[in-house]
Amino acid sequence: LAGREDHGNVVVFDASMRERYIDQAEILTSFSDSITNKDFKVYYQPVVEAASGKIIGAEALVRWIHPTRGLIGPNRFIPALETNGFITQLDYYVLQQVYTFQQSLQTGGMPFVPISVNLSRQDFYDDSFISHVLNLAQESSLPTDSINYEVTETAVALLKENCRYLLQQVRLGGAKVLLDDFGSGFSSLGMVGDYSFDVVKIDKSFIDQIDAEPTVRTVIKSTIDMCHGIGLRVIAEGVEGASQLEFLKGCGCDYIQGFYFSRPLSEGDFCAYLSKAQIGTQSDAVVLTPRD
Ligand code: C2E
Ligand code: MG
Ligand code: MG
Ligand code: MG
Repeated sequence: LAGREDHGNVVVFDASMRERYIDQAEILTSFSDSITNKDFKVYYQPVVEAASGKIIGAEALVRWIHPTRGLIGPNRFIPALETNGFITQLDYYVLQQVYTFQQSLQTGGMPFVPISVNLSRQDFYDDSFISHVLNLAQESSLPTDSINYEVTETAVALLKENCRYLLQQVRLGGAKVLLDDFGSGFSSLGMVGDYSFDVVKIDKSFIDQIDAEPTVRTVIKSTIDMCHGIGLRVIAEGVEGASQLEFLKGCGCDYIQGFYFSRPLSEGDFCAYLSKAQIGTQSDAVVLTPRD
């Protein structure tokens, strides 16, 4: 339980209250103010190499630090923003924040950590968003794979042409494209070979079943082999346990993202994590050990 002062009353938030429904209208009326006030904060979840535990990247994940409701996770406001056309504004805001943060990491001499940003399928309907993304990349002096993009297979399936154009352009510029939540949406094996992805992220719903379901273990192993066969790297998403990690390592899974290594971290905590990871290691290696 976390206590919090609010207009003189102590308000205690617990898990069930945090799950409480937020009215769509409330989200939409406070959205613009929250953008102006910078109440949306980007958190960063490390992605590590399975074999070594070395950090190889991070995913940018937005949170809403709501003036009265506290921290709200994206699953509770992104669907409303998507339905009402605000998501693209948020995604552009997040992208700008990530550029600024990446710039400060690199200026501050931190180890190089590529950061991936989530794109909503709504973003692909917006031609000006697409040109803004390409402009940001062109104008930036950061290494070209500093900022990468995550798209879901559903977005790709529904928006073939716009999506193909943006993804081709960002890859030409040197950025990586990650296929997010693989296996959870409109999947077709053709899509994996057809489009230019660099990395496939196996959805958490599969990882959750590793311990209990032999069939799912076979599906995961086959997916990893198939991706490797066509030159793609694989990230397992939502790894929480040592037995899951061991299984994935045994399958040759390249990278791991999950609470087993770290939750998504605020900018400050992420910097602390990176600095700590440097201590006692060779200058060319950032070795991380699992945490609870
Ligand atoms: P995603 O892109 O698949 O991101 C991974 C989600 O899994 C994150 O949830 C992360 O916190 C969670 N996760 C990672 N490891 C574990 C684990 O070990 N256990 C558990 N229980 N969860 C884990 P989060 O941050 O709540 O984000 C949910 C979704 O919201 C994201 O799924 C993404 O689709 C969307 N999202 C987040 N930020 C943005 C954004 O800036 N723009 C857009 N368009 N969508 C975003
Ligand atoms: Mg993602
Ligand atoms: Mg995902
Ligand atoms: Mg997801």
